[in-house]
Amino acid sequence: MKICLSIGYPIKISKSPLMHNTGYKKLGIDDQFIYLSAEVKPKDLKMAIDGARAFGIRGISVTMPYKEKVMKYLDKIDTEAKIIGAVNTIVNNDGVLTGFNTDSTGAIMALEKKTNLKGKKVALIGAGGAARAIVYGLTRKGAIVKIFNRSLDNAKSLGQEFGCEYGDLESLEQALDMNIIINATPIGMNADKSPIDKKFLNKNHIVLDVVYSPKKTRLIKDALEKGAQVVYGYEMLLYQGVEQFKLYTGFDAPIETMREVLVKNLK
Ligand code: NAP
Repeated sequence: MKICLSIGYPIKISKSPLMHNTGYKKLGIDDQFIYLSAEVKPKDLKMAIDGARAFGIRGISVTMPYKEKVMKYLDKIDTEAKIIGAVNTIVNNDGVLTGFNTDSTGAIMALEKKTNLKGKKVALIGAGGAARAIVYGLTRKGAIVKIFNRSLDNAKSLGQEFGCEYGDLESLEQALDMNIIINATPIGMNADKSPIDKKFLNKNHIVLDVVYSPKKTRLIKDALEKGAQVVYGYEMLLYQGVEQFKLYTGFDAPIETMREVLVKNLK
């Protein structure tokens, strides 16, 4: 039996085990693969990675706060993950641990279900780990990204790294003229709050919220009320998981089955 697991601290009620195990069952490989989750304290991260190598854990999905910290414990880092500067997926091939980043592909695949990205103007709110993965994917697709962030210094350093304009959250009225608005902050996760005033949303926008729990965040509700197209955070979660599934098992993921179980089990 090959074991895959999610690690983080604290590890909230992760939907990844359910999503992956349902996929294994659908393909009839649940006698070969099982997906678990484990909380790893910050002082134990190196030990956890060494343990995973020793136990022959096949795949590790890395969540907050370890996406950057884990990189120094790996044997190889995929080129994209290196540029993004964060790893959310580790594959163990005979004791050699390689880090990947599937958050970028997850966001891009979710957005591309709605639109072609080349030449599209994007207001990206946030400058943390998720934003880094998204700005990398968007700029590679030829989108024109402006980063808006609470801390202007963080917006500036991310903007300069990827050749994007940047501003603070007070200049978000500029989003009115953009094609796509993305929330890449945790705002909306624990409170009925949106990072952008509803008056800056309109029916021409495509709005992605990376927050996937609750499913319908304040931002998603506001966007729907304004007639905008929305991309739910669970779609990004799904597509980043689909890429992990392939890396861990070698099989194409049963996307519809995995989407169904996510939608059913997210509030
Ligand atoms: P992170 O690295 O800690 O970055 C957080 C970002 O949000 C920073 O830009 C921070 O601004 C900003 N921020 C945090 N609290 C804020 C507040 N109260 N008001 C304004 N701005 C605030 O976190 P992350 O890894 O990017 O994760 C962000 C969110 O994305 C999380 O909710 C995570 O669960 C979600 N996510 C979802 C998926 C998916 O598949 N759907 C994948 C990855 C992450 P400062 O720079 O000013 O601190």
